[in-house]
Amino acid sequence: PAPLLAVSGLRKSYALARGQSLHAVDDISLHVMPGEVLGLVGESGCGKSTLGRCLLRLTDVSAGRILFEGRDITTLGEAALRPLRARMQMVFQDSYASLNPRRRVGDLLAAPLQVHKDENGRKRTPAAIKARLDTLLDLVSLPRTALNKYPHEFSGGQRQRINIARALALAPRLIVADEPVSALDVSVQAQVINLFADLQEQLGLTYVFVAHDLAVVRQISTRVAVMYLGVIVELGDTDTVLHTPLHPYTQALTQAVPRPVVGVPRPVALRGDVPSPINRPSGCRFHTRCPVAQPRCTAEEPVLRALDDGRQVACHFPQY
Ligand code: SF4
Ligand code: MG
Repeated sequence: PAPLLAVSGLRKSYALARGQSLHAVDDISLHVMPGEVLGLVGESGCGKSTLGRCLLRLTDVSAGRILFEGRDITTLGEAALRPLRARMQMVFQDSYASLNPRRRVGDLLAAPLQVHKDENGRKRTPAAIKARLDTLLDLVSLPRTALNKYPHEFSGGQRQRINIARALALAPRLIVADEPVSALDVSVQAQVINLFADLQEQLGLTYVFVAHDLAVVRQISTRVAVMYLGVIVELGDTDTVLHTPLHPYTQALTQAVPRPVVGVPRPVALRGDVPSPINRPSGCRFHTRCPVAQPRCTAEEPVLRALDDGRQVACHFPQY
């Protein structure tokens, strides 16, 4: 089968004062197969959210190419993108900010159905919209009474269910979820992740699932891409990458995850913060924090290359 989403050489940079520029996404290539969940992990400030927004063309990209369903969407204008918007949707971290507080949930969910025509190119009737709203509530396990309420009348977890329902309204194929459970209580996180997983299976959805929390990504992803300062440093099957990481950054991230049973964090191997994307370190951009850096690392940037086990790693000295 062909990839649902294929990205090559993607860059997103912002011009700053004094001729400087910020490279948020720096030459990223990846693909996402239909029905797959690609987890995107890394500390905050690594470009995950920016990449997610680029993938759906919610922002312009600086260079590279994005194919969605085989079609080049890299430079499409808003009008040309509109019909495609039905098939690719985003769910954001802040469940409250993305819902207009003055509108009832019924109106919020109906809005995309009123704007977009149905699959036969016809305007949806009020009866068809009502039926779809009921289906959407069932899908996210909210009661029908939710339609008449306002966003503030719900808990954070319920509001995220409303956001998910809205993203599903037009029956998309691809959903990019940007830290969709990070703002929720830990007890609620599991429920919402389970909902994402159930919907994925039930509806055959494809996700790009952005998270800084490895436990979340481990739970839902088929494959994982680890990002550091705008580039992918390791990419492969979830089990392979998270159980036997080879890149020192992935190793540090996995060591920082609390032990699931005991709940006591292991010593955090990762010291300091992510450097500024304006003044990136030379050579390997992880060298300032890498425990096994060598002189070569400051001089030469490692490229992402495929290993025998199918994963890709960008490191001169992968840690077997
Ligand atoms: Fe560390 Fe060098 Fe590998 Fe970069 S290339 S991760 S600095 S060992
Ligand atoms: Mg982010």
